[in-house]
Amino acid sequence: MCVFCDIIEKKIPSEIVDENDDIFVIKDINPKAPSHFLIIPKKHIESIKNLEGVENLLLTKIIITAKTVAKKHNLYGYKLIFNVGKEGGQIINHLHLHLLGGWTSRPKKIDI
Ligand code: AMP
Ligand code: ZN
Repeated sequence: MCVFCDIIEKKIPSEIVDENDDIFVIKDINPKAPSHFLIIPKKHIESIKNLEGVENLLLTKIIITAKTVAKKHNLYGYKLIFNVGKEGGQIINHLHLHLLGGWTSRPKKIDI
C-alpha cells in the first residue's frame, strides 16, 4: 500500500527502534537532524486530515510515544512536526510524526 505499510509487514528492511500495539518508530533514512525518528501508526491513515472519530485518540498516543522515545534517547529539546498533504511537504501518504533533536547532548548551562 505504501512504504510504511511495507516496513510494518517487513517487506522492506528498516530499523524499528520502538513498537507497541498501535504504533512503531523508525529512524529516518535521510535524517534532517542528529536524531531523526518517525512515529508511525500501524494503521494506514493518509494524513492528519483523514483522522476521524476515535482515530483522533491516536494523535495523543503518537505524541506520548514521541515523548518516550525522546526521553530514551536523551533528547532534552526537540521538534515535533507533522507534514500534512502535498503542499505541507508530505511525501509519504501514511500519517507520521517527525521527531527531530540531538543538537546538544545535555541542556545548555546558562551563566548569568
Ligand atoms: P514526509 O515528507 O513528512 O512524508 O516525510 C517522509 C520521511 O520518510 C522523509 O523524511 C524520508 O527521509 C523518510 N523515509 C522515506 N523512506 C524511508 C524508509 N524506507 N525508511 C525510513 N525513512 C524513510
Ligand atoms: Zn501505509
